[in-house]
Order: sequence, then C-alpha cells, then structure tokens
Amino acid sequence: MRRFLVAGNWKMNGDSAANAALVAGIIAGLEASDGVDVLVCPPYPYLAAVAAQVSDSSLLLGAQSVSEHTAGAFTGEVAPAMLQEIGCRYVIVGHSERRALYGETSEQVAAKFQAAQDAGLTPILCVGESLEEREAMATESVIAGQVAAVVAVSGVDAFASAVIAYEPVWAIGTGEVATPEQAQDAHFHIRGLLAAENADVAANLQILYGGSMKGENAPGLLSMPDIDGGLIGGASLKSADFLAIVNAGVEAVR
Ligand code: PEP
Repeated sequence: MRRFLVAGNWKMNGDSAANAALVAGIIAGLEASDGVDVLVCPPYPYLAAVAAQVSDSSLLLGAQSVSEHTAGAFTGEVAPAMLQEIGCRYVIVGHSERRALYGETSEQVAAKFQAAQDAGLTPILCVGESLEEREAMATESVIAGQVAAVVAVSGVDAFASAVIAYEPVWAIGTGEVATPEQAQDAHFHIRGLLAAENADVAANLQILYGGSMKGENAPGLLSMPDIDGGLIGGASLKSADFLAIVNAGVEAVR
C-alpha cells in the first residue's frame, strides 16, 4: 500500500516571519493527517530555521534543488550532503522551472538525482510535457525520455527510494489543471515505464501530480488509482489552502 505524499514547493517566496507562521499553521493542522506524509520545501536560506521548527513534528523538510557535485569550486551551489546535514530528507530535481529558466538538461537532472541519493536524500524527480508537446501528442515520449535519462544513470531499482512528480508544464502556476483522467493516464504511463523493468519498484513508487492543484480539485485528482499525492506550488503558501489538499489526501486514503 503506497502512502500519500503532499509536498509544498514554496519557490522563491517567503521571509522569516511569514515562514514561521506558515509552518506553525501547517503543523497545527497535521494532527489529523493519518496516512499522508506532508513535506515543505522552503528556499535555501530558511531551511535551517524551518528544520528547527519542524523537529518535534511530523512535518518533513526538503529543498527545491541541489548540485550534482559533492564539494568544490561551484559558486552559488549547494551540495546534497549540506542539505542532508541540516535536516532535509527530500530534494526536488528537474523542476520544469529549473529546466526552462536555468537550462538544466535531463542528463544534469539525472546526475542530481544520483548525487541526492548518494547523500541519503530522496529525490523528487519532476517530469512533464509543455503545451506544444501535448498538442503534438508527444506527452508520453517526452516523459519517457525524462525518466530514461535517470534510469540510464541510476537504474530502475533506484526508484525504490525516490518519488516522481508528473507536472504538465502548461498547468504549473497557470490555474489550468489537468483533468483527473489526463493526469491518471500520464501516471499510469510512468508506472508502466518502470514496471517493464521492475514490477515491485513500480508498484511501490509514489507518483505525485503537480500543476495548479488546490483544495477544490484535489479530491478528484487524488481519487485516481495511480496518483499518490501532490507537488503544490501556489497553494502551498497559505496553511489553510495547503491543509485543504492534505485533507483531501486523508479522505482519499480512507
Ligand atoms: C510547481 O511549481 O511544482 C507547481 C505545481 O506549481 P503550482 O501548484 O503553482 O501550479
């Protein structure tokens, strides 16, 4: 039985006071989150403070990106072991904003995935197609290529301790959400890609949906058989909005 995971990607938002209030609000609402793991991914400068704040709670901590290198002359970068040391358990790799705005290639994403696992972090690998790719009926081949790049470096068995987030680029931050059926089709495809090589790993893999998920649309998405939670951007910045999605997960687990 796969657990649900609801992960908040705060992106480049927040400040010390706002973060403290947000985390306090989430923790206060977590008492009833049985069966659902809940994760926040703040910007780097706030990770240590949030780590301290969540230390006596079940709220998990992750980062939004990571270097593929372990140490050295990489100005501005953050090593996986640094994240691990300050209390991160997860790290997002291959978010479409990293791919589109910072030119991260699938090969670089694969190196980050492996580096994260080497340091004991659970990578959340983001995959997904652009609008043009969907309209060109290339959704499945795009996703297959993004997954294959990681499998080529780390192997399918590495997904025993990883998470995949299906995030159609056209749905991120746009208010346009994939229908439950569109998302389910993509998640089923992703699971099938891995099942072809290791059925157990595929069956146990958490696959999250990301793209304008909110309290209103979460129940429909989370009721789908291959959707195991959400990666949430905008709606992760207010505790009530985020908890509405967590609660939809709790209901879906029941
Ligand atoms: C994201 O950036 O991963 C995301 C899903 O954003 P939003 O929920 O705002 O669409």
